[in-house]
Amino acid sequence: MFALVTGASRGIGAAAARRLAKDGYTVAVHCHRQTERAQALADEIGGIAVQADLSDFPALDRMAAEVLQRFGRLDLLVNNAGVSVTGLFQDISDADEARLLRVNAAAPMRLTKRVLPAMLHRHSGCIVNIASVWGEVGAACEVQYSASKAAVIGFTRALAKEVGPSGIRVNCVSPGVISTDMNACHSAETMQALAEETPLCRIGTPEDVADAVAFLASDRAKFITGQILPVNGGFSI
Ligand code: NAP
Repeated sequence: MFALVTGASRGIGAAAARRLAKDGYTVAVHCHRQTERAQALADEIGGIAVQADLSDFPALDRMAAEVLQRFGRLDLLVNNAGVSVTGLFQDISDADEARLLRVNAAAPMRLTKRVLPAMLHRHSGCIVNIASVWGEVGAACEVQYSASKAAVIGFTRALAKEVGPSGIRVNCVSPGVISTDMNACHSAETMQALAEETPLCRIGTPEDVADAVAFLASDRAKFITGQILPVNGGFSI
């Protein structure tokens, strides 16, 4: 089995790549800037490392073609790479907004479009997108980010309807607050407050999300498609 995990050099993507490798996948570990970390992880789990700035669509296309050429097929795509920008809606620059929407919302669609023909050809395949609790309920000072993740949720549901008859499942994991570099901007007090707001009384780990990705990718989820699986310790209840 062959998988491509975007943004797998660190954080949730790295945990997902490790977990999927344990489940028997040969994983393409994608990164943007952290090429050494991606290569080290690929070596550790017996996969390959690939690089592309996903806001650069020609580069994205080349990366997709490289993975398909080296693996010969793709069983699983995990659209995980993402960026966040915080600030008041009107204060986020047009350039930052455009880049965020491109990486978080447009790139997963473009990459899926590139690998889908190979899945359709085999009448089998699985796509797992990573959204966010903010895409479900919205967050002040993360309006563009919330909108990008709501797009990922809509994309998941609609594509699942379209390709279900072709034997392809499309699902989404929607994490709450997870301990990764993405939250390094928050103070220890803020993280503590977020943990206290969470019914399970802690911040999530990348492994918590990786387990959900692995479940949705597995045969145990073979009758599940178009679903949004929250992994947030009860934060959104
Ligand atoms: P992270 O630790 O900040 O890692 C981000 C990953 O995305 C890295 O592998 C990075 O590659 C890659 N990336 C960033 N910009 C890119 C670009 N322009 N082109 C290609 N790759 C790019 O993030 P994370 O917390 O693991 O988040 C992973 C996913 O979960 C994201 O979609 C995020 O929105 C979502 N999520 C996170 C949380 C959370 O609390 N952490 C909550 C909900 C949802 P390099 O290392 O090479 O730069």
